Amino acid sequence: MAQDVLCEVNNCVYWAHGNQCEADKIYVVSHTGKEADKQEETDCKTFEPQH
Ligand code: SF4
Repeated sequence: MAQDVLCEVNNCVYWAHGNQCEADKIYVVSHTGKEADKQEETDCKTFEPQH
C-alpha cells in the first residue's frame, strides 16, 4: 500500500507543497480503456480541479 504519493498536478484540490498528495486514497486508471503499455496511458481518477 502506498504511504507517500508524490504528484506534480498542482491544480488538484488534494495537492500540497512538496508535491504531496493529501487524498486518503487515490484511484489510478488506464485512460485508453485497455491494458496500459506505458506510464503515459495511466491517469489519476481522484483528481479534482481547484476552482
Ligand atoms: S488526487 Fe491524484 S491528481 Fe490529485 S494530488 Fe493526488 S495523485 Fe495528484
